Amino acid sequence: MFPQHIIPTRASNGYSDRFEYVSPSSSKTYIVALNNQGVWECSCPRWTVSKYRRTDCKHINDVRGAMQMQNAQQAIRKRDAPARTPVAPAAPEPIRPEPAISMDELLQRLAKLQGGN
Ligand SMILES: [Zn+2]
Repeated sequence: MFPQHIIPTRASNGYSDRFEYVSPSSSKTYIVALNNQGVWECSCPRWTVSKYRRTDCKHINDVRGAMQMQNAQQAIRKRDAPARTPVAPAAPEPIRPEPAISMDELLQRLAKLQGGN
């Protein structure tokens, strides 16, 4: 699970991941998103103002940390999940030889099959 203040949202065009980051200290909401070039962007003043010098900010670092935590938890869940036991194919029915029957009995059975009593 992500921390409460990091809310995954639907990624828009040009982005593969998008989060709403509700700052626990200021209650301001920032958008932190990973663009298709693999660069994290944030809507906070620190990132937008110094866009060409900084590649991350506190919010981006937090979101990346939360994603790594999430991935690690998923990996652990995957590792700890019980291995699926393959279902053994049903053993073929042993072929039992038909007991020998007399011609009379055979005719009686045939008559029954044909609707006689
Ligand atoms: Zn930021």
